[in-house]
Amino acid sequence: MSSPAGATWAKNLEYSARELVEPTGVEELAGVLSGADRVRMLGSRHSFNRVADTTGTMVGLGRMPVQVEVDEDRRVVRTSGGITFGELGARLQEQGWALHAMASLPHITVAGGVSTDTHGSGDGAPSLAEGVAAVEVVTTGGEHVRLERGDEEFDGAAVSLGMLGALVTLELDIEPTYDVAQTVYDGLTWEQVATDLDAVTGLGTSVSVFTDWLDRDRTTQVWVKQRVDRPGGDPDALGLTVAGEPRHPHRGNRADSCTEQGGIPGPWLDRLPHFRLEFTPSNGAELQSEWLMPRAGAAAGVEVLQGLAAQMAPVLHGCEMRTVAAGRQWLGMTQGVDCVAFHFTWRPEQAAVTALLPRIEAGFAPLGARPHWAKLFAEDALAGRVHELYPQLARVRALRGRLDPRGALRNDFLDRLGI
Ligand SMILES: Cc1cc2nc3c(=O)[nH]c(=O)nc-3n(C[C@H](O)[C@H](O)[C@H](O)COP(=O)(O)OP(=O)(O)OC[C@H]3O[C@@H](n4cnc5c(N)ncnc54)[C@H](O)[C@@H]3O)c2cc1C
Repeated sequence: MSSPAGATWAKNLEYSARELVEPTGVEELAGVLSGADRVRMLGSRHSFNRVADTTGTMVGLGRMPVQVEVDEDRRVVRTSGGITFGELGARLQEQGWALHAMASLPHITVAGGVSTDTHGSGDGAPSLAEGVAAVEVVTTGGEHVRLERGDEEFDGAAVSLGMLGALVTLELDIEPTYDVAQTVYDGLTWEQVATDLDAVTGLGTSVSVFTDWLDRDRTTQVWVKQRVDRPGGDPDALGLTVAGEPRHPHRGNRADSCTEQGGIPGPWLDRLPHFRLEFTPSNGAELQSEWLMPRAGAAAGVEVLQGLAAQMAPVLHGCEMRTVAAGRQWLGMTQGVDCVAFHFTWRPEQAAVTALLPRIEAGFAPLGARPHWAKLFAEDALAGRVHELYPQLARVRALRGRLDPRGALRNDFLDRLGI
């Protein structure tokens, strides 16, 4: 079945693809991939740049059979690339299992999220791709290839920016289900973040510090998601007070769409994301950017943003600081180092945002920051630094050359970045 390719979820970009094809089975998928001159996979469209784009055919897995098979002995779930993390989470929870992390929005697909190194938050939580134990790829030659943890090429297989083929099946690590309580606090200053990062990000299993940069010195709120079976940090030691009412990450927005707060314990999948699965945003009046940098650069990163606060505030819905544990994936944004991530949800003003990106990039580059693959960043600046930031790039290229020798999955985005 074929339809127009349409636009991103944020409607900030129309895809250049001629059509979107949605096969209903693996054989049909293999036929579409091997028959296309240029082709790219499409997930739930939540990326903000042209990473998913192609001038040829886009392929979605939304009509493929859904699989969720728990292997208790190996502690993995075997699942379909096109399933959303929210649906997978619900199916795991029914069977008493959980993932180690969730992104802020549960509506994204497993394959799309993993491909761009989507992450949640937590000093002990690496990105979602680091919880992948195996991938099964249908290549542009129509072949079925399995790569699993321990294979020589596996560290190039999960965060692959859609360059290897269609991730049809993934095996993800699971653990017994757990409960999380989410509490929102007020009163944190950026000085405290700069001088006592460990105490701040150690407040909980997953910690998000929010601001809108209207105030250079104070954050607007801190969301602490704490596993109830593990000890948390000490908000009193930082002088924090519990928020008096449910909050949205961005000041002035209603909190109805947000996961339950107030310290009430609930299943991991209903607390780790910021937004509820049953709240389905059709499209978002927002743009996003994010940079991840070694934790050691956090204080300097805050200083860079304080210097840009007056320029950013008019274009911002909000800014969020999280942490992500080191990963192994060659194109992982946390490859080899524990990171702090600075995320920006912008108002939908593409020109103003585009003008700001190089300024943020210039401040962050000396700190070793890697921009989020799926969000808006200064692409020219990354093109100049991509070899330095991703020292395993040659191995990525070799793997891509093996699985997609005719380059059908190449696109302008990857070419511009020199990947
Ligand atoms: C509201 C919102 C909240 C977000 N929150 C977070 C967050 O908390 N943390 C974070 O890190 N990111 C976050 N993101 C970014 C988001 O996780 C990424 O954009 C992610 O890639 C979206 O997945 P998708 O299914 O929409 O993929 P798409 O945007 O459709 O595609 C992304 C990439 O994956 C590839 N791809 C898709 N499906 C397949 C497949 N089956 N096989 C091979 N390649 C495939 C595409 O070719 C493309 O390169 C957020 C985005 C939004 C809009």
